[in-house]
Amino acid sequence: MQSVVGDLKHEVTQLPMPTVGVLALQGAFNAHAQALRQLNVDVREVRLPQDLDGVDGVVLPGGESTTMSQLLLTSGVFEVLTQRVEDGLPVMGTCAGLILLAKRVLDARPDQVSCSVLDVTVRRNGYGRQIDSFEADIAVTGLETPLTAVFIRAPIIEEVGSGVEVIAQHNGVPVAVASQNVLAASFHPELTNDVRFHELFLHMISSGSIVRNDR
Ligand code: GLN
Repeated sequence: MQSVVGDLKHEVTQLPMPTVGVLALQGAFNAHAQALRQLNVDVREVRLPQDLDGVDGVVLPGGESTTMSQLLLTSGVFEVLTQRVEDGLPVMGTCAGLILLAKRVLDARPDQVSCSVLDVTVRRNGYGRQIDSFEADIAVTGLETPLTAVFIRAPIIEEVGSGVEVIAQHNGVPVAVASQNVLAASFHPELTNDVRFHELFLHMISSGSIVRNDR
């Protein structure tokens, strides 16, 4: 199977400046915004449904998926966001953001919602208490050298559907996945100075879809 991610190289810097929305209801949205600005992205903080108008992609940050879920519903962003992503808007979810994209969420609060656009099963806080926060250097498909991944009370990816490509693993467990217009990680790529994971997302945006036609 060929990688759906492709070769990053320097394509990103040659493209016109994309506008990327960062869900800014709760959590680590500032760090994502900073990483994207370093990559010459026009960043739009998303708090209302209309903030999604005209964006080329959207980032769902880490934080508390329960709180974000509630705020997504009360703000009205949930419905519009889900529709846009179902229609093909590229989305990157990290940590709690991954939970908000997953089709199956274990140990979720009963009233918690998810956009259900990524065919994975995740378990909230799945790494357990002893190692609920840790760092690891991991190889990521499409990146030439390992990335330092920061895990904070991270969800564990327990199952991956057939259309989902695992692009990074830690101790044999998937920690980053890609599927069509969805990129997600159980760690926080925005909490280091390394912006290559965000670059990967920009590549997804620029190529329209990360799924190649030959698959
Ligand atoms: N434990 C959080 C949740 O379930 C996720 C933690 C994070 O995003 N760093 O939503």
